[in-house]
Amino acid sequence: MGRSGGHDRAALVNRADVDAWVRSFAQVVAERRDELTELDRAIGDGDHGTNMDRGMRKAVEKVDALQDPDAGAVLKTVGMALVSSVGGAAGPLYGTLFLQMATASGRATELDLAGWTDALEAGVKGLQARGKAQAGDKTMVDALLPALEALRAAVGEGAGAADALKRSADAAEQGMKATIELEAKRGRASYLGPRSVGHQDPGATSTHLLLRSAAEALAGSAG
Ligand code: ADP
Ligand code: MG
Repeated sequence: MGRSGGHDRAALVNRADVDAWVRSFAQVVAERRDELTELDRAIGDGDHGTNMDRGMRKAVEKVDALQDPDAGAVLKTVGMALVSSVGGAAGPLYGTLFLQMATASGRATELDLAGWTDALEAGVKGLQARGKAQAGDKTMVDALLPALEALRAAVGEGAGAADALKRSADAAEQGMKATIELEAKRGRASYLGPRSVGHQDPGATSTHLLLRSAAEALAGSAG
């Protein structure tokens, strides 16, 4: 059933799933911290890996202390941790993504695939409102927008959640790779102008990891 499935809405994401997603992202960021930092060294200031690692460690710490059973409460906690503990541009932008996802989730204890997609869309809109990056500006938006589009298409086709989430992670990966040829128009990399071409964007790279983590952590509970 699609968006209008009503009583057939299969639960996809509950608090435990969001928790698993956040922990899985924190772990992969820790594992690939140096790689993210290397990418940022080429076109930025070489701190993206350490920024994200610090932020996600803090986020997991806060989630550990949380009692609230709502998926939205976990999202909000992560967002606040990222906004408050990361100095770089990407921390507050990811923070906004999580906070807007939390707001979109409301007090729902769980989301189905369409609800998850709506939440992600709200998150991406919030991130774009804050960072002003459009498609093609060589930022995390270039991984997020294709991922969202792929999710929407999958929801429209009535695809299963595991398939939909994998397609969205694959689209994020394509978007990440496509940033190599782009000239940066936002963030520190834009200071390099045409010299930013030929390098993969660090933020788009961490965004791919975020969506790959979602596909891996959430697919298990998918109906
Ligand atoms: P900083 O640039 O402050 O050192 P990070 O190194 O942690 O912060 O993050 C850099 C990443 O942030 C970039 O690779 C890019 O994807 C993302 N980014 C920077 N500015 C923006 C923006 N205005 N909108 C969206 N993403 C942005
Ligand atoms: Mg940086």
